[in-house]
Amino acid sequence: MGALGATRKISALTQFTDLGLAKPLLKALADEGYTDPTPIQAQAIPGVLSGKDLLGIAQTGTGKTAAFALPILQRLSENRKPAPRRSARVLVLAPTRELATQIGESFKTYGKHMGVSVAVVFGGVKYGGQMRALAPGIDVLVATPGRLLDHLGEKSITLEGVEILVLDEADRMLDMGFIVPIRKIVKFVPKVRQNLFFSATWPTEIEKLAGEILNPNPLKVSVTPQATTVERVNQSVVFVEQQRKRALLAELFDDPAFKRVIVFTRTKRGADRVAKGLEQVGVDAAAIHGDKSQGQRERALAQFKAGEVRVLVATDIAARGIDVDAISHVVQYDLPNVPEAYVHRIGRTARAGAGGSAVAFCSDDERNLLKDVEKVSRQRIPSFDRRNDRHLGAATAAMPDTGGKPDRADTRGQPHRGQHQAKRNRNHGGGGGVRHEGAERPAGDKPAFRGPSRAGGGGAGSGRGRGGGAGRSGGTGGARAGAPTGVWSNR
Ligand code: AMP
Repeated sequence: MGALGATRKISALTQFTDLGLAKPLLKALADEGYTDPTPIQAQAIPGVLSGKDLLGIAQTGTGKTAAFALPILQRLSENRKPAPRRSARVLVLAPTRELATQIGESFKTYGKHMGVSVAVVFGGVKYGGQMRALAPGIDVLVATPGRLLDHLGEKSITLEGVEILVLDEADRMLDMGFIVPIRKIVKFVPKVRQNLFFSATWPTEIEKLAGEILNPNPLKVSVTPQATTVERVNQSVVFVEQQRKRALLAELFDDPAFKRVIVFTRTKRGADRVAKGLEQVGVDAAAIHGDKSQGQRERALAQFKAGEVRVLVATDIAARGIDVDAISHVVQYDLPNVPEAYVHRIGRTARAGAGGSAVAFCSDDERNLLKDVEKVSRQRIPSFDRRNDRHLGAATAAMPDTGGKPDRADTRGQPHRGQHQAKRNRNHGGGGGVRHEGAERPAGDKPAFRGPSRAGGGGAGSGRGRGGGAGRSGGTGGARAGAPTGVWSNR
């Protein structure tokens, strides 16, 4: 698929009122303080309104949720009819419960003057509430694939009423091993339907899946070329010994510009350890990962959103779909095994047009991962060398013990990506120790890196065109978003 250029120009000339959206939707957008559509919204909305299939190549943070939710809501309202019992008129598939919940909230926010019924269904919670919510038939069902398949197996949900199918973050579904479940689910959906397919990257497997699901000649919208690193983010990489990463992280937080920070770790245990380590040096932190209960995750997220904790430490999967505004910095404590994840991670600090800063720590074991990241994102990331740094050595020696061994960036002898499609944490192959050529490596033991505040780098909340809106409504407003049943409906 060819990347469509000049998208920013299109949106600069377009307002929501030019896109053919109905009044109740325009009112909801005005309530949110959104005046101008983002590029993907400007390009996608008219086509989706006219009933076309859509293939959207877009990362999170581009406004893609509204790009599909707005025209879907309008199409539903133009043709009001009840969904069959235990079914829905629109099915949105999302990889994680956080993303599913946020998509549900978006439908609720944008559809609040229209009276739509929405239910969100995901795993890890009881089935009963989900079944009850679906029983009368609803307008929009947002679901994660595993739990939906369970319901289909039990015949507690049917998909026979689905008119519009949305697949969000298809590449992440692939990473999480959801491609087979998706193929199974699609077989339950009527063949005559409108399809909206979103992916941040465009690997061959995703191209194939899109070919199976979409009708011929879909509208194609690409808001960034494939896997190109978000240009607005001020990025840097710091070379550091694995065991000194803790001290380096603590040092970063001496800088008050690190106001609202997501720290990524590769493992769940690593996330817990890093959060604990930060607490020990007086930095408030919460960890979020797949072993945490839904309640714990929601609490951590709420504390982070409210500014009660300065740092959210997360694994990639847990962080997926987290929509928090004004993230000042993204720190990658470990580099990801899958290079595309680097782009997703740094995109957290560049929501809907904002800038931001991203720092990645790179131990010697991770050089091969860095090389892959630079290849995929087609860039050379400015680097700083803090290896053999006396200050960090002393700080490390003085740090309290967090218990357990430090995480090792063990990337050797593991299967190459693509071989183990169904693996949750896909591993990287290739030999270790590839040198990162051409990187700047300031010599000496003085700190060469003092946080990425250079080049105007991202203070929190950098001004962006959100028209003074308070952002997404984040689960307020009476609906039972994030209720223990995993379901809410405004009907
Ligand atoms: P998404 O890519 O759908 O996750 O959206 C990223 C963020 O942008 C969310 O917080 C949205 O609420 C916000 N957003 C979506 N559309 C607009 C818009 N037209 N103007 C300003 N913010 C928006």
